[in-house]
Amino acid sequence: MAFEGLADKLSEAFKRLRSKGKLTESDVKQAMREVRLALLEADVNYKVAKDFVAKVTERSVGSEVMESLTPAQQVVKIVDEELTALMGGENTRIDMASKPPTIIMMCGLQGSGKTTHAAKLASLFKRQGHRPMLVACDIYRPAAITQLQVMGEKAGVPVFEMGQIDPVKIIKGAMRFGKDHGNDILILDTAGRLHIDEELMNELKRIKADVEPNEILLVVDAMTGQDAVNVAKAFDDALGITGVILTKLDGDTRGGAALSVRAVTGKPIKFIGAGEKIGDLEPFHPARMSSRILG
Ligand code: GDP
Repeated sequence: MAFEGLADKLSEAFKRLRSKGKLTESDVKQAMREVRLALLEADVNYKVAKDFVAKVTERSVGSEVMESLTPAQQVVKIVDEELTALMGGENTRIDMASKPPTIIMMCGLQGSGKTTHAAKLASLFKRQGHRPMLVACDIYRPAAITQLQVMGEKAGVPVFEMGQIDPVKIIKGAMRFGKDHGNDILILDTAGRLHIDEELMNELKRIKADVEPNEILLVVDAMTGQDAVNVAKAFDDALGITGVILTKLDGDTRGGAALSVRAVTGKPIKFIGAGEKIGDLEPFHPARMSSRILG
């Protein structure tokens, strides 16, 4: 499971701190050096780790903590609060349109889990009583449409496709169809590429301008560590995303992406995916994730 290395290292550092009883400033600084190393080893962005440790140290070396009865426990509590804040504080919900349909544009690099997560999200909305529809907008790979249909079937959600024509025309067609059939949420599975390129971004920008989605969710693979964060930054700079879905957290990812995405892009992780099955999708709760990391 993700975060094991980080969780172990942090727990060791805090155990040493607890064994000391009364703390000195240098004890705290030593522990924070260990925390910083653990974060870097978990592939957390360098500046994010540095700023994080600086903030925790500043709050910890004050007299309130140092002179308390359980100083080590107070330090761990501060780490917990700052980890939660780093990941965005509160859970961030999907922004629903005041007048349906809500349009959710999924984007991401090929292989990130975009199609799988479009279907997982559709399934979640269906279970919540909505009537979502998946829209096949990847017009470059005929196999992409078939894959979406397979996933749509697993989710029990209809898939709208018009073959390989202009994606904006497909989406307009889906909006008309959805209106007639009572679909209140349209989830757009856009094309991905192996790398970020201008052509892909221009197409996504054009869809954004013509369709004005309520949400632009970027799907990133947590296994790619710092690259996931770089991809998120590039998509956000070019497109202005509204949130991130972090996938493949069931693998042995070191977790750095979960901790850095928000700080680097300013955009929240809204969902996490941990598995290939339709049900493997959870809203992202920073406080819960922090407790998981701190054990
Ligand atoms: P796309 O190219 O971005 O649309 O990516 P896909 O949805 O086709 O996913 C690529 C591969 O990753 C597929 O084999 C999926 O089954 C797998 N996958 C997607 N999400 C997850 C996840 O959360 N965990 C794991 N282990 N595999 C995933």
